[in-house]
Amino acid sequence: MSGTGKETWFHKKGTHFNPPNIIRYADDFVILHENKAVVQRCREIISEWLAGIGLELKPEKTRLTHTFNPELSEDGKAGFDFLGHHIQQHPAGKYRSNTNPQGTILGFNTLITPSAKASKVHTEELGRIITKHRSSPQAALIKDLNPIIRGWSSFYSNSDAQGVGELSKQDYLLYLKLRRWAKRRCGNSKDGHVKYWDSINGNNWVFATREGKANSFRLLSHSGYGSSSTSYVKVKGDKSPYDGDLIYWSSRLGTHPQMPNRKAKLLKQQKGRCPWCGLSFQDWDVLEVDHIIPKALSGLDEYKNLQLLHRHCHDEKTALDLKEVRKKDHTKFQELLSRFWEKFNWEWVNDIPNFISRAVRKSDMTNGQHIE
Ligand SMILES: [Zn+2]
Repeated sequence: MSGTGKETWFHKKGTHFNPPNIIRYADDFVILHENKAVVQRCREIISEWLAGIGLELKPEKTRLTHTFNPELSEDGKAGFDFLGHHIQQHPAGKYRSNTNPQGTILGFNTLITPSAKASKVHTEELGRIITKHRSSPQAALIKDLNPIIRGWSSFYSNSDAQGVGELSKQDYLLYLKLRRWAKRRCGNSKDGHVKYWDSINGNNWVFATREGKANSFRLLSHSGYGSSSTSYVKVKGDKSPYDGDLIYWSSRLGTHPQMPNRKAKLLKQQKGRCPWCGLSFQDWDVLEVDHIIPKALSGLDEYKNLQLLHRHCHDEKTALDLKEVRKKDHTKFQELLSRFWEKFNWEWVNDIPNFISRAVRKSDMTNGQHIE
């Protein structure tokens, strides 16, 4: 596949041709090219070559996908997974867009994030450790969790995991699990919090042992490992009028007529950053106050349970919160339902419980036949 010298099926003599990029690690590889036909031809060539050595390219493990436009992908999904990472390009305005080496605005951003599968596996692993330590001391649980958190977060420390909120999400999911762990031991969440969470260096939510504040044993946080795959992408995102300049804060924002007191205080506390996505707030961002532990899950209306989030980040978190709340309501509903059915004689008919007095009795059915 030469440059301009000779003519091939995909390129005319004298025109420039970019050779496809291939990135391989062990038996996993990616081929990148702007022309779909070239990628398709590569797939054929590789299949033929593999067949020659008695191997095959498994169709279910091969995807032809567009990095940006889902409509151009075989399965309608943009981007691809590679080595536990998901690589995808996202539409972006001129302030956040990537530029090419000539400085032209490309209109999209490349984000490299933990793949959905990798995130799920990690969440499940943390869950298994917590279950295993159902009745161990807190220190034993932290000792087992920390290396997993450190390892996973370090692996993604050069990705955009922080920027897309994946690290905060992992911290939050872990928190919900630990909360259940603590509740199980203390009978209720409030006592659980008092016993197992501590306020250390201004952070009110540190899962830590209480054997002396100076050397208490603390759970690591995923967010502590945050960075970005291309630090230059977020140059604009890192500059903020709210970036924690104390003089600016105390002299102006605290008494700014258009800034409600509560928001100003929270902004100062958060150093102008959204804890969900890790980005600094910008002038044009819509900010909302969030209850870290939702009120429906008995979260309190006090400063240490409040945070300021982007509206879109708040939406994301609320969706997760609602899932938790529903889980709780659902359990209650099931209990009521089973108590209700216990009072009656009933039997299963077509997977639906039926009152014996009203339903067709088993004895009314002809031999071996089911009611449909
Ligand atoms: Zn945010």
